[in-house]
Amino acid sequence: MASRTLEEVPVTGKRVFIRADLNVPIRDGRITDTTRIDEALQSIKWVIANGGRPIVASHLGRPKGKRIAALSLAPVAEYLAEVLHVRVILANDCIGDEALAQTRALGPHDLLLLENLRFHEQEEENDAEFSQALASLCDVYVNDAFGTAHRAHASTVGMVRFVADRAIGPLMQKEVAALSPLLGSPARPFVVVLGGAKVSDKIGVIRNLLPRCDSLLIGGAMAYTFLAAQGVEVGDSYVVTDEIGVEREVLTEAARRKVDLVLPADHVIAVDIVANAAHQTTSGPAIPLGWKGVDIGPATVRRFGDRIAHAKTIFWNGPLGVFEIEPFARGTLAIATEIARSGAFSVVGGGDSVAALMQSGHAEEISHISTGGGAALEFLEGRELPGLKALEG
Ligand code: AMP
Repeated sequence: MASRTLEEVPVTGKRVFIRADLNVPIRDGRITDTTRIDEALQSIKWVIANGGRPIVASHLGRPKGKRIAALSLAPVAEYLAEVLHVRVILANDCIGDEALAQTRALGPHDLLLLENLRFHEQEEENDAEFSQALASLCDVYVNDAFGTAHRAHASTVGMVRFVADRAIGPLMQKEVAALSPLLGSPARPFVVVLGGAKVSDKIGVIRNLLPRCDSLLIGGAMAYTFLAAQGVEVGDSYVVTDEIGVEREVLTEAARRKVDLVLPADHVIAVDIVANAAHQTTSGPAIPLGWKGVDIGPATVRRFGDRIAHAKTIFWNGPLGVFEIEPFARGTLAIATEIARSGAFSVVGGGDSVAALMQSGHAEEISHISTGGGAALEFLEGRELPGLKALEG
């Protein structure tokens, strides 16, 4: 059965548990990018506007079951109070008698933010007792945390069966609505752009999108394993030797399906992956020994750009070079700009690609920027996301 939306579940006077993804970057106690919180505001505002009592929960970083002061949600509480103009109470713990009493004492313009869920290792273990303790805090459960929908944790899966009234949040709905057409009938040509280092993370997506896309453009470190699989010299570039067999299969499958699989035709190469390293541009796909491929070259930008310019649908995940180092960021920034200018229905996922897009100044022109890189990849692999599944029925 389809999940109910937040609008379909009565919230007036109810304690509404909102599982949000407020896992923002924090440096020296200050939030450096508030995007994830801003994206979560819609569900919280809805609950407040409709007379519900919001109890907001999230993880932050990887405390691995320990209470780590630097991973407290305190800066998030401050920011929420500032933008929502409500009284935000930060519960000392996400479960227990004190938190329970705080949920019961909530007034009409109060918000209770639970402390970092991952201060308890039972959260990631999807522990039943912990799930029940979380569930006891609320009357209604809302999951709006797309970024963790691919994880079966207590707050995303375990607690759901202990709460009768549950709903899918608006951000989660928006993500699903943007990603679903890519697996359905995307407007053609459908161009998939993949980069980054971890081939293993993307192989499932490649397999699932290969029968659906017209062009598959591969850059970033993962391109070198593909080039090595074709027998091209890649010098000292990052190659995952164990994956070469899998890459060969993908190349064969792409050829059989007549998918236009495009690998870099030239590169920026450097003696090392550090700022100020000696670097140059190759004239072809081969890389000499002693050099590492660190970015796609200008000819590759043109080849990729040509496909992107004609696309009607684009999905992009993963940087096309070591974009954190300025001279090696050009390829990624150029492709970000091409995608933004294409006029295609464009979906971009993954922290690095989104950061590159922000840097390029073209984020506004993208149809959908996903807040969950890993979750978006798993969705596009065709896998059922446990967080979504738990809301059904
Ligand atoms: P992933 O998490 O798999 O999306 O990989 C992202 C990382 O890949 C970023 O930190 C990039 O710096 C890195 N990356 C992209 N291109 C290269 C490359 N040519 N060599 C080494 N690392 C790269």
